Amino acid sequence: MKNWPGCTPPAGNEDKKPDRLCSRCGEVLVMDWYGPWLTHVWMELCDSCDGHKPAARAFIEWHRDPGRDPDVLPQLFEDWETEVMHAHGWARATEPEAPPSPQIHPGLVPHGHG
Ligand SMILES: [Zn+2]
Repeated sequence: MKNWPGCTPPAGNEDKKPDRLCSRCGEVLVMDWYGPWLTHVWMELCDSCDGHKPAARAFIEWHRDPGRDPDVLPQLFEDWETEVMHAHGWARATEPEAPPSPQIHPGLVPHGHG
């Protein structure tokens, strides 16, 4: 008679991944994120190491704010991503900007002689 793998206790920890530690200082990261496609950059948000950087600081403060506004997350994330990637030597490819619309000069109307 063979046993079959029934009744195995659930692994249990599936839904809680262990806290990732900062590769620089070893503290628990506020957040970690895999960087943009093909860059192979692991982005780490660490209070100790990144707290002095403006975009990281803003993101950390937002993350810790219980009344945080989810609407600002995309912008915060984008700023942070840009900051992290820049530190790794990457620059965000920007769309070529449309040329500014020609300035409309106020008409130079010759003054009439009263
Ligand atoms: Zn750190």
